[in-house]
This record gives sequence, structure tokens and C-alpha cells, in this order.
Amino acid sequence: MTSSSAIKVAVVGGGVIGVSTAQQLANAGADVILLTESALTSGASGRSLSWLNSAGMWREPYHRLRIAGIDRYRTLWAQQPRLRWLRFAGGLVWHAEDKGAELHRRHDHEVAHGYDSHLVKAQDAEAHTPGVNATAIPDAGAIWNPGEGWVDLPSLVQFLIKDFQERGGQLVTNAGKCTVRSSAGSISGVATEGGDLVGADAVVLAAGAAVPAMAADLGIIIPDATPISLLVTSRPVHHPLRAVLNTPRVSLRPTPDGALAIDSDWANAHIRQAADGSYEVPPAITESLLAEASLVLQGAPKLEAAWCGIGPKPVPGDGEPVLGRVDDVPGLYLAFTHSGATLGLIAGELLAYEIMTGASHPMLIDFNVRRFR
Ligand SMILES: Cc1cc2nc3c(=O)[nH]c(=O)nc-3n(C[C@H](O)[C@H](O)[C@H](O)COP(=O)(O)OP(=O)(O)OC[C@H]3O[C@@H](n4cnc5c(N)ncnc54)[C@H](O)[C@@H]3O)c2cc1C
Repeated sequence: MTSSSAIKVAVVGGGVIGVSTAQQLANAGADVILLTESALTSGASGRSLSWLNSAGMWREPYHRLRIAGIDRYRTLWAQQPRLRWLRFAGGLVWHAEDKGAELHRRHDHEVAHGYDSHLVKAQDAEAHTPGVNATAIPDAGAIWNPGEGWVDLPSLVQFLIKDFQERGGQLVTNAGKCTVRSSAGSISGVATEGGDLVGADAVVLAAGAAVPAMAADLGIIIPDATPISLLVTSRPVHHPLRAVLNTPRVSLRPTPDGALAIDSDWANAHIRQAADGSYEVPPAITESLLAEASLVLQGAPKLEAAWCGIGPKPVPGDGEPVLGRVDDVPGLYLAFTHSGATLGLIAGELLAYEIMTGASHPMLIDFNVRRFR
């Protein structure tokens, strides 16, 4: 139940970022309506590898944000230890044979940041990562990151939306392509594709890959590097793998129903757009991706495709998130990010902070859209 004086917020986009923000706002006492084009998680959040990590070479502020992201998942995991869709079983990464020096540099960088990172030899990898095929790991070895995990975003979104609605939040699915409305330079609300108007004191644009174009309509430029990407899920295999594997030819993780979620950059290069605008990959590419996944798994299990999701993966032009208030348009807040699985909970929390307090959150200053001016 919200009070009549509560701030009214319209959130556009039913992916993990929009739902997380809406849930945090409702929790903080705002009067919130979440509008999304079709069903919840119909965008990137419905076809994500969702590896929870801060592995690799990030700038310090971005590393801190990602670590805070993982922290919020760990809290959720501690509070709800029986969740089947959130796991912290670590991550194992290795590079191609000739990229051993790069692997070591990455490890050194992670250690310097205090990220839990261990170089392991091939023969020791299985002790950390049951289910991995150790013979697939080159002599340079692999990096074992025990603090990493994975989440099934559609399950998380269902979990958050239940809480959102119990707190009085209003969900509108199948709203079509909504547009942001402004008056005299300030936000006034959102219009659904069907023409219904929703008045609001603040609007959060969390429409995934659609954010740059929607922001451009309001005169805000966000460099966009969004690629089209593929995620394949297998039929259940009930394999002992629990960790996330990132290997030169394939990345994979378990799913809550005992299957595997699999992606790879090389496979994305084979995506074609059909005349009706939909995306497809040749079946041979899906088969090759499954075969590559099988090669890094103990016992080389036969993997069969169950489902294939293809579409835009939101990525800002400079590779860092765009999160927070828009100085020039009072009442407007943006959320456009890759690694949105890792950031899902923290992004919603910090955006809600900015909206409820009217202040900039210190951790979001580096990620404000004003950096592109
Ligand atoms: C293959 C793949 C692998 C990934 N791997 C990882 C990973 O390992 N780790 C990680 O942290 N992240 C990963 N990501 C990224 C992560 O999944 C995304 O960053 C995150 O899901 C984005 O969530 P979002 O809510 O911003 O956008 P989305 O999930 O795309 O949601 C946006 C929603 O807005 C709706 N919408 C769009 N336009 C409008 C409009 N005009 N009006 C109303 N609604 C609208 C869409 O229908 C959609 O439902 C991966 C993504 C992909 C695709």
C-alpha cells in the first residue's frame, strides 16, 4: 500500500534491470507501475548466460560495482539457501594454447584487485570443478575463481515481481512499444503503444537494447555497441558440472532443470536476419556449439538442443554501464548495460536510491550518461 503523497514512478522494461528497480522502489514506498512491451523477460534477460562475475580487466569503479552486484546475490543466497536458480559454485576459465601469457596477466590483474583468483594446472582443475574435461585444458592451465556463480534470470524476475506486486506495485505486460512523455523539459509520464497515458513524477528507461533509440528521441545520445547474440540450452543431461566454464570455443553453465546454457562469440557471427526481421542460425552451427560444449565436459556427453534464443545483447559503446539520473531532463533515469545479470540487483538498488533521495549515488557517478557529452 502506498500513501497518496508517494512519488509516482513509471518503469519501462520488464527485464531484470527494470523489475529489480521497480521492486526496490516499491519496497521504498514509491507508487510504481512497470510497463513492458510483451511478456516479462522477453528481451536479453530471457536468453542470458548469466555468469555472476567481475573476472578480467575492468576499471576499478566498474570492478567495485560488479563486486557489489555479486554481494547482493550472495545475501539473497544466504537468505534463501534452497533456491535452485542461484548458485555459487565458482568459475573456471582457460585460454587458447598460444594465449598463456594473457591468462597470466589476467590472473595478476585479478589478484591485484583482491578478486579471488587461482592459477590451476589442468590435472588439478577437476578437484575444483567436478565435471570438467581436464584434458581440454592447455599446459598454461586455467584460472579458478571460487567466488563466482550463475543465476537463472527468468526465475529471479518471477521472484522479484511477486514481491513487487505484494507491495502494491502495478505490472502492465503487453503494453507495446511505450514512449516517454515530457512537458516543458521535465518528465510527465509514459504512453503505451495503444495510447494510454500514465502520469509519473519519474520514469526509468530500462528497455534493454531499445534504450539508446528511446533516449535519442529525448535528445540524449548514448553510444551503442549492441551485438546480436545466441544462447542455446540443451535438453537435461544431469551432468556433474556445477561451475561456469569459459573456454576459447564455448561458455556454459548448468540450468536449474539439469540442462546446460551455452554461448560463444564465434557462433554469433553466423546469425542471419530473416525478411520479417527475426533472427536465425543454421542448425549446423547449433550442433557445432553443442559439440564444442561436449568436448570440455567430462565423459563428452551427447548434447541435444532444446531451445535457442537470439536477439540483441545490450552493450553501451564504451563497454561500461549507463545508469542513473539525466541532468538535462528532470525525472528521467536511464539503465542500459551489459553484464546486467551480475548488476541486476545492485543496479535496481542504486537507481531506486537516486529516485527516492533525489541525490546522485557515489557509485553511479562514473556511469552517468553525462560522460558522453
Ligand atoms: C547471450 C547472452 C549472454 C549473456 N551473458 C551474461 C553473463 O554471463 N553475465 C552477465 O552479467 N550478463 C550477461 N548478459 C547480459 C545480461 O543478460 C543483460 O545485460 C540483461 O539481461 C539486460 O537486462 P535489461 O533488463 O537491461 O534488458 P532486457 O532483458 O532486454 O529487458 C528489456 C525489456 O524492455 C522491453 N522493451 C523494449 N522496448 C520497450 C518499449 N519501448 N516499451 C516497453 N517495453 C520495452 C523489452 O521487451 C524487454 O523485455 C548476457 C546477455 C546475452 C544475450
